[in-house]
Amino acid sequence: MPKIAQIIIDLPLKQTDQPYSYLVPDELVALIAVGSRVHVPFGATNRPLQGFVVGFEEIADQDMTLKPVLAVLDLEPVLNQEQLDLADALRRTVFSYKISLLKAMLPSLLNSAYNKVVKLTSIDLVSDLFPTGKKEMRLAELTADQQVQVKDLVKTGQAEVVYLATDKKQIKTVRYYQVNLDQLDRSAISSRATKRLELAEFLTKHPDDGKVSDLNKTFSPAVVNWFIEQGVLLVTEREESRSRAYFEGVKQTEFIQLNSQQQEAVTAVTAAIGQESSPFLLEGVTGSGKTEVYLHIIDQTLKMGKTAIVLVPEIVLTPQMTSRFISRFGRQVAIMHSGLSDGEKYDEWLKIRRGQAKVVVGARSAIFAPLENIGAIIIDEEHEATYKQESNPRYHARDVAVLRAKYHKAALVLGSATPAIESRARASKGVYQLLTLTERANHLAVIPTVEVVDFRDYIGQQEMGNFTPPLVEKIRDRLNKGEQVVLLLNRRGYSSFVMCRDCSYVDNCVNCDISLTLHMTTRTMNCHYCGFTKGIPRTCPNCQSASISYYGTGTQKAADELEQLFPETKVLRMDVDTTKKKGSHQKLLEAFGNGKADILLGTQMIAKGLDFPNVTLVGVLNADTSLNLPDFRASERTFQLLTQVAGRAGRADKAGEVIIQTYNPDHYAITFAKHHDYEGFYRYEMGIRRALGYPPYFYTVALTISHKDEQAVIKASYAFLDLLKTHLSDQVRYLGPVPKAVSRTHNLYHYQLLLTFKQEPKLQDALNQLLDLTQDKTNKDLRVSIDYEPQNIM
Ligand code: ADP
Ligand code: ZN
Ligand code: ZN
Repeated sequence: MPKIAQIIIDLPLKQTDQPYSYLVPDELVALIAVGSRVHVPFGATNRPLQGFVVGFEEIADQDMTLKPVLAVLDLEPVLNQEQLDLADALRRTVFSYKISLLKAMLPSLLNSAYNKVVKLTSIDLVSDLFPTGKKEMRLAELTADQQVQVKDLVKTGQAEVVYLATDKKQIKTVRYYQVNLDQLDRSAISSRATKRLELAEFLTKHPDDGKVSDLNKTFSPAVVNWFIEQGVLLVTEREESRSRAYFEGVKQTEFIQLNSQQQEAVTAVTAAIGQESSPFLLEGVTGSGKTEVYLHIIDQTLKMGKTAIVLVPEIVLTPQMTSRFISRFGRQVAIMHSGLSDGEKYDEWLKIRRGQAKVVVGARSAIFAPLENIGAIIIDEEHEATYKQESNPRYHARDVAVLRAKYHKAALVLGSATPAIESRARASKGVYQLLTLTERANHLAVIPTVEVVDFRDYIGQQEMGNFTPPLVEKIRDRLNKGEQVVLLLNRRGYSSFVMCRDCSYVDNCVNCDISLTLHMTTRTMNCHYCGFTKGIPRTCPNCQSASISYYGTGTQKAADELEQLFPETKVLRMDVDTTKKKGSHQKLLEAFGNGKADILLGTQMIAKGLDFPNVTLVGVLNADTSLNLPDFRASERTFQLLTQVAGRAGRADKAGEVIIQTYNPDHYAITFAKHHDYEGFYRYEMGIRRALGYPPYFYTVALTISHKDEQAVIKASYAFLDLLKTHLSDQVRYLGPVPKAVSRTHNLYHYQLLLTFKQEPKLQDALNQLLDLTQDKTNKDLRVSIDYEPQNIM
């Protein structure tokens, strides 16, 4: 009976967001499976497109109108049934095409132009598949029959399929050699060719694999090439894998004896592995040993023969963090984060899919890791906004985790010193099970004292804009004692801009409604949205005055001030500018950890995860900037940031101290942070959320409507508002439409409409109708994005 495959085409369009039926030709029946990537002819022109098989059906008669599947792209399916179901479940709240969700689950390498190459792994294997002498062939060169044979060879470990980028320039490859002494014919080497003789001798003594570059240290390429031509050296190119570097130099560490609160948490969580259970919220003050709890949970999980996922915010995913997992679980760990090259990400993904990795430590997208038999899922710093993807598909890793935990009967642990208000509220309602750690685990480490300094008390007394006299005093004191200082510049918004002092002209981007940011290192003005760049103006473009100058409190400016205050002191600066290069974030942290600098000055990125015993003072230069954001989470974010950064002081036996400089010393976010009182903050904030009708009392959905013509955006926004009003109950509150805080980027105007509601069964339908409107040809420049529970509403 003919086999029909249901295929989702790789075209992110509303019209194509459904499975299409294709006929599976007989020769592909043994290769194709649910979850396979395929090529199929599509549309009137039958151009070949990538697609994913989501199901099969058998039909009695051959339907002659069906087009055939052209090729199966991989020997094994790249998605499993759980992932396909997950995509369907997520679509209920993530307004996205199915194809976008499926692709989010795969390493990007599987989406770009790569050649798949079949390699024989053993040199003496003679296979009739391969013309003699060849060890590698492109998969596409093989017939379907031969591909089936390769599939068997792969199963028995005699061959492997690797992906080579068609554009190799971007990927660093290393040439490796294998030695085949059978091909070595010494009589072919003349007695005067001393270097050839030497190399023959060397290879006989050292027949192990190695890097060609190592041979080239002693032997010229000409000599080495002769051996390659003779078939003595078999050379393969492999991508240099940085992920392997994670494992180097990590020493095995022992499990720490838990204290009673930690033990209680571990016991509760491990009892839930393999059971239907609600998620756990692990609320533990900074330094209370949450990570140690995770490690014990994972240990138990592995002992039960199950696997685990640990999510960590991208910025915290430093070797300092990953080594804590590797030092306990060794090579069972796979690391997934954006710093890896496409090839490395693919390697890690493959390791997981093959079951070689049992513990996945990664950033947001690692929640899709193709692990089987999951026993525990842990989300550290669960309050972090980065767990929500800010572009399509707009999924929240926490929601995905809930679905996967349910599917696997895995225990789900959400950990934080400052849980999201929504999460803490769920714990109050019994939706989550609350576990608490109230003390620092290292009993020598005490929670630091926090002093709030009011800028207004020092008007006219400050030597430098960013530093009040009490903070300068404390810094001086620590420097004298040889201790280290961490300084946080709370930098939301775009502070290093250029403004004319005479006419207050601000240099804005030509495409976006935003001031250009001054970059001293490149001596340019850059737009952080669209990438527009220009030189620094010498005179005001508006009034030609020469008094145009640099404004704001960028890290560069704070660093300059520090240099004037403490000329002898080494300061490390950490912000988007100094951490652009791959690995630079890590290098800065290492340098600071090794005492190469006395002060670490940085933006939000220094607030998390750092554990330096010699840091005894943390200064927050400006607590206010994040308080003034037009977002109902502004207080929550500020409280979280202050608590996190305060947690960097006094990690070990030396007592820590925190100074917060502010214009709002009485703001509740600051006073609760001063007293390390998360629970107090939570209760107070809940009162405000209830009074103002925000989450967790109400749900929110944000629509962003964009068009290059501002009138068209406004018109469409009001049309959408009308449409929603006619379909939804009058319980819905509409905020807007209003221009977004950055109202124009990439030459598009953006308006926002925010809905808050309790229960709206018709919402899904109404939003779909609204999306249909945008598919209309007359509206083709109109863009709408729908964000359920937006994390940033500016
Ligand atoms: P958190 O993740 O909650 O910030 P960590 O797990 O990083 O806390 O622990 C903070 C410090 O306390 C680490 O140096 C860790 O090794 C140590 N620690 C954790 N648990 C214990 C324990 N039970 N006894 C002693 N020290 C501990
Ligand atoms: Zn721009
Ligand atoms: Zn001017």
